[in-house]
Amino acid sequence: MPSLVTPEHDVVIIGAGFGGLAALYNHMKADSDVVLWEAGGGVGGTWWWNTYPGARVDTEAWYYAYSFEPEILNEFRWTQRFPDQKEVFAYLDFVADRLGLKSRIQFNTRVQSLTYDEDNNLWHLVATDGRTTTSRFVVTAVGGLSEPHLPDIPGIDTYEGIVVHSARWTEGLDVTGKRVGIVGTGASGIQLVEELARQAGDLFVLQRTPNFVLDRNNYEISDEQWEQIKANYPAIWDKARAHYFGFPLELTMRTVRDTTPEERERIFEKEWAHGGFSFYLETFDDLAFDEWSNEQAAEFIRNKIRERVKDPEVAELLCPKTHVFGAKRCPIGHEYYEQFNRPNVHLIDVRERPITEITKTGVTYGDQTVDLDVLIFATGFDALTGGLTAMDITGRDGAKLADVFAGGIRTHLGLATHRFPNLLYSYGPQTPYANIPPAVERAGQFQASMLNYMASNGYDYVEAEPEPELQWRDELKAAVDGTIFYKHGITDNAWMLGNNIPGKPVEINVYFGGFDQYLAKVDQVQADGFAGFTFKRVSVPDPEPVGSTAV
Ligand code: NAP
Repeated sequence: MPSLVTPEHDVVIIGAGFGGLAALYNHMKADSDVVLWEAGGGVGGTWWWNTYPGARVDTEAWYYAYSFEPEILNEFRWTQRFPDQKEVFAYLDFVADRLGLKSRIQFNTRVQSLTYDEDNNLWHLVATDGRTTTSRFVVTAVGGLSEPHLPDIPGIDTYEGIVVHSARWTEGLDVTGKRVGIVGTGASGIQLVEELARQAGDLFVLQRTPNFVLDRNNYEISDEQWEQIKANYPAIWDKARAHYFGFPLELTMRTVRDTTPEERERIFEKEWAHGGFSFYLETFDDLAFDEWSNEQAAEFIRNKIRERVKDPEVAELLCPKTHVFGAKRCPIGHEYYEQFNRPNVHLIDVRERPITEITKTGVTYGDQTVDLDVLIFATGFDALTGGLTAMDITGRDGAKLADVFAGGIRTHLGLATHRFPNLLYSYGPQTPYANIPPAVERAGQFQASMLNYMASNGYDYVEAEPEPELQWRDELKAAVDGTIFYKHGITDNAWMLGNNIPGKPVEINVYFGGFDQYLAKVDQVQADGFAGFTFKRVSVPDPEPVGSTAV
């Protein structure tokens, strides 16, 4: 029989980004004794860490936001359609202040290990500075793109210039007049290029795979538009929750195949000009499913690149040809391609001639070396699982989460993993590829409802069952197999497959079956008394089991 030491807290949340703050809000509302540990010195998560020049959100501000609490919706006045990092950070800081969340947050506290104590049915948390606490439940909200990836290139430690990763920017780094190299042309890299091209003496863009960079078309939100947005919020959220990617949009009900070439061109032009993800989401519904249709969109973008980049050889190098449009998350840019017309911006193809070494003074690729004062790695993240496996998480029977995931990700709807009792994820691996705020809001609500259900039924132990995890993994695979993205095997690296990290198991780590479908599944699990989870009480003998299996 357990010795039953009382934990210090009901719930400890890890991470104060969008997910952690939504979880904290929901658990506070449910009157839990909840605290939050955050590695950074402030709230924001991604928007705390990613302070690199040019960092900016790619989703329109008014729905890259929480839907709860009227004062949050009405009082924070977004200024731009796609605000910069400072504004998104200011928003999250405002939310934390306005909802009184900060009193529960311990900043500068990075969790090093999490260990489940079977005798006492609680989690022991240890921070890197030695601080400890105990909690009945733990919610991880560590972000899907939070663990920076630095490629293991020989000589990387010998470089004597300034070296920085995009997600760990050095405040005040001045590149004016310097020879700057940037490795990586994903969403982070292209934003950096746009900004640094104007400042650096020479900017060397070391590109392995070109991307389809869409136009941003940013603008200031007028007072009139802001009033309209506020008045429409109920409809905006209803639409977002009913949409495949959690955007307040509707399907176009058009396919490229069924449209004349003239009409197709008109629609492509219109949505290209509209900016943001419109070209992906509001042109045609078959881009993810029909290779020929996808190629029409891809060629449209390649032609935009050819129009904008004066040197035809450089233009061709910037044209993606090795993956279909959408197979890698397409970045959103502002005059990205035009930067390559500047005499100080140099495109280096490191696909043909891969980077082999970092020397004291620069980077060697093929038989060439480029000397650099500053070397920037915009090389991405160990996505979805990396934030979790960076902590030493030990569940029951000594199970290590890193070992479990090394054999393939296992979760029940991205919410929890078998053998890790009372550990719940906010935006864990295997959650939808979608607009994040509405997704993490649902996770926070789900957790609070589950804890309420447990309290009402006298349970203090919950664990995901293994069978739903296998079903969910199969559903993830079926959903992505239904698209054209990875049909022909793995071509270019994509963080959603895990193959951007050498040695990581290659498998789809997000759900491509639609945010709307996902919400329906979570709703159903909840309506069915949290189906697929096992509950029990360990402090006193179990009450009659309620639709659950014994552990
Ligand atoms: P990423 O998309 O994973 O891009 C990493 C880049 O580094 C790729 O171009 C990759 O080339 C390159 N790379 C990695 N190792 C390399 C090596 N050894 N040699 C040469 N090149 C190498 O990472 P990210 O740009 O940080 O973006 C990650 C995700 O974060 C985005 O997809 C997006 O979801 C999110 N994000 C969002 C925003 C926004 O909303 N505004 C901004 C930034 C990031 P390969 O493609 O050839 O592997």
